[in-house]
Amino acid sequence: MPAAAQISSSFPTAKCLACDRHVLTYIAFDGEAEARCCVHCDGVVDGDLRWINAAELEAEGYQFGAPSAAKAGGGCGSGCGTCSVRKN
Ligand SMILES: [Zn+2]
Repeated sequence: MPAAAQISSSFPTAKCLACDRHVLTYIAFDGEAEARCCVHCDGVVDGDLRWINAAELEAEGYQFGAPSAAKAGGGCGSGCGTCSVRKN
C-alpha cells in the first residue's frame, strides 16, 4: 500500500458502544462544549482515545485513497480526460 505509507499522521479512534467496535472519531462542537463523536453513527464516544497510524487504521477496516481507481491503473476509467491515465 504505497499510498498509505506516505501518510504519517495519527488518527484518533475510540470504542463506540453503538457500533461495538473501535471507530474513527471526530470532534463536534456544540456551543462551547466539544464532544468526540463516531464517524459512523455520530454518537458520542467515551473512554480513552487510541491514536493509530494509517496502517493500523486500515487494519481496523478503513481504507485510504481510491482503491478502485488504483486497481484500474490510475484514473477513473471513465475516459473523462482529467485523470492520470494518458491515452497516447
Ligand atoms: Zn458509532
